[in-house]
Amino acid sequence: MELEFFGAAGEVTGSCHIVSAAGKQLLLDCGMIQGGRDAPARNREAFPFNVQALDAVVLSHAHLDHCGRLPLLVQRGFRGPIYTNRACRDLLPVLLKDSAKLAARDAERRNRHRDEDDVDVEPLYTLEDVEQTLKLVRPFSYDERHTLFPGITARVRDAGHILGSSSVELWLEEAGVTRKLLFSGDLGQYDSPILLDPYAFQSADVVLMESTYGNRLHRDRLATEVELGELLEAAWRDGGNVIIPAFAIGRSQELLYLFAKHFEAWGMARWRIFLDSPMAIEASRVYWQHDERYDQEALRLRADFGSMPPLPNLVLSRTADDSKSINEMRRGAIIIAGSGMCNGGRILHHLKRQAGCRECHIVFTGFQAPGTLGRAIVDRSEKIRIHGQQIDFAAQVHTLGGLSAHGDQHDLLRWYGSLADRPPVYLVHGEVSAAEALAIELEKTGAKVTVATPGLKVALAELPSLAHD
Ligand SMILES: [Zn+2]
Repeated sequence: MELEFFGAAGEVTGSCHIVSAAGKQLLLDCGMIQGGRDAPARNREAFPFNVQALDAVVLSHAHLDHCGRLPLLVQRGFRGPIYTNRACRDLLPVLLKDSAKLAARDAERRNRHRDEDDVDVEPLYTLEDVEQTLKLVRPFSYDERHTLFPGITARVRDAGHILGSSSVELWLEEAGVTRKLLFSGDLGQYDSPILLDPYAFQSADVVLMESTYGNRLHRDRLATEVELGELLEAAWRDGGNVIIPAFAIGRSQELLYLFAKHFEAWGMARWRIFLDSPMAIEASRVYWQHDERYDQEALRLRADFGSMPPLPNLVLSRTADDSKSINEMRRGAIIIAGSGMCNGGRILHHLKRQAGCRECHIVFTGFQAPGTLGRAIVDRSEKIRIHGQQIDFAAQVHTLGGLSAHGDQHDLLRWYGSLADRPPVYLVHGEVSAAEALAIELEKTGAKVTVATPGLKVALAELPSLAHD
């Protein structure tokens, strides 16, 4: 009975861990490695385990750094079931098909620039691989125990991070010994819009926990909402457009929800609101379908308006022509478009036309990685380049701090705090500095904490038995 770490150990992306028990091997997540120059090469490497020996995958949620290499796993011979909950199952095709398209585009670009005698670069995986992967998904409901194999039972609970995000409980039984492993998945903030709070677990024998913001505190959520309302007011007075680079899954839906929630107070009726991203439109459709995962406030809003999101002035820009037609508008438009860090996508066309206007307001809702156009804008570069064209930057820039999909240090401590008996913790999914800072705080509560490293193995039967269920 063993737990072994293969990814997101000492870094944020590439979530991938193996649990072995009762003669079976389960893979927890199979995420893409993102960021850093060597990421594409690392994703292409052979998996550091035997793909054929895996019996099943349990997937925590539909973010690429957790599910992005599943089609590669299937391409390389995996044929077992992929267990996850229904909402995650519905988001997976949106995400993985987009990922396959990006992979095709990336291979095409590299082949265009390669030397004559180099071999053709194949895409990381294809739409066909994605189709094969989706056929293996076995969705199950939240909050119920499911027997995956004799001796292995699983239950998923809401992690409050994005729609369909799970924390996973696994009961493992081998040679008369039972241990309960709890995998946090990615944990959301408490009281975030639309979604339920992360589930409060009572007990476990061992905890595998994320630590993305283990060393940070977010700006207050309510203050962030007030700030958003105020900057929309200022933008209206200035007579320009508002451009919001946003991530397709989660952040885009939250923004639409906030516009609906404050529709009267913020004078939203005077704007035309554009969701200019086919992927965000698809993801939103899934979000509005799964109202069984909403918190009380979202349910009330839905009941009052009869539909989600209740925005009569929302325009869905599906085609490239739809997107181009927005360019005619010089004022009164709120444009939500991908990508969130401005390193591609439709947002570039809007920025190219409007970043040189003083009355334009650009609103960032998430972290901007170094080297991206988003980072250059946040750092107030005087000149930016888009599609080879130099632009004298004049627009006004805002960064909203409180809309992260991840809980901060307080949230993470609160989540762990509901567990009785302080089970041992293995920290994953964080830079070492973030994980170490969280470890110090967790240890103050009496927990024994280890920052996971790739290849680390944990003999589960040797841990003390603490779980009561
Ligand atoms: Zn995530």
